[in-house]
Amino acid sequence: MSGAIICDRCHKLRRASLGEAAGPRAQMLALPGCGCQHLSPHDACLRLLAPGCGPLAEVSARYSEETGFWVAVAKGADVRVLGAVADVALGLGADVGEAVARASGEVLERYGAALVPPDSPTRIPLARWDGSPCGDGPAADAWLPYHRHGMPVLPVRSSGLAFDFRRTDALRAASCEKMERQAIDALLHNGLGFARPLGSIPLGRLAVRAFTLPAPVPVALALLAGPSGAIMAAGAAAAANEADALAEAGREVAIDWLLAAGAVLPGSGVIPAALLGPLAGTRLPEWPRSTGADARSKPINAARVIRNSFGFADLTPADIAIAGGFVTRAMATMADPCLMRW
Ligand SMILES: [Zn+2]
Repeated sequence: MSGAIICDRCHKLRRASLGEAAGPRAQMLALPGCGCQHLSPHDACLRLLAPGCGPLAEVSARYSEETGFWVAVAKGADVRVLGAVADVALGLGADVGEAVARASGEVLERYGAALVPPDSPTRIPLARWDGSPCGDGPAADAWLPYHRHGMPVLPVRSSGLAFDFRRTDALRAASCEKMERQAIDALLHNGLGFARPLGSIPLGRLAVRAFTLPAPVPVALALLAGPSGAIMAAGAAAAANEADALAEAGREVAIDWLLAAGAVLPGSGVIPAALLGPLAGTRLPEWPRSTGADARSKPINAARVIRNSFGFADLTPADIAIAGGFVTRAMATMADPCLMRW
């Protein structure tokens, strides 16, 4: 790596936040907002993603035979010096690179949201998909603490938040997370009978039951029950097509199962199936059974709904921006009644 040495203040604070994971000073990334460092986007990207240089403290990965995925654990730097606290994030993938990218992206999106000043009544500007302004929202709703009550805040609590190196991919992921959350809330309100069964789907050595939920875009829900029928893990996801929604819901239920089994982050105090809220108290036999009929949803222009349903807050810190990345949070629902009729 090439590039200027960061200033004493950046060096001191980065070292303090990275702790024992801190790498050499010459490899560190300047703090957000400090102009002490001039790097090419490529070098900035390398430092953003390299543990011990910027927001990422440690990253590890291993293969999980039970789920059939590589599982990565990324630990974020302790950024209390900047107003937040360290956190960990999980990512699953078909290979090491995908798992690490997902876990690292989770840390970076949470890092971006952790640096938002949460003090109400601070407002944060919102923009549409095309970048045009559409009012503002409470900064407190965009802000995400790295932890609560001494326990890590896992991805299930960061609805609508996304990081990506392409702005539209970040916006799409953020919008889909909000759609998924709305579909879960709607099911909670309307009853389990509105879930449409897709049958059993193998996931490594696990057998999950999959459903689609009523929504203007494909939303998949994957449930895993113990021998008594009690739900022990759940995952849900929205996407522009059902195959992508199912694949993401599979990764989510696998993460939930790994947490429930204590295979990752043992003793974290995380409640598995928290995604489902009160629905987690149901038993799998109470959920609708597959009738053999085609239960698949037939969405109309899902991509348009994903683009037009929310306003987006730009939460990208300067150190992520110079590396070419984006952090966004889907927030206010856009005033488009035809989209919200479902
Ligand atoms: Zn500096």
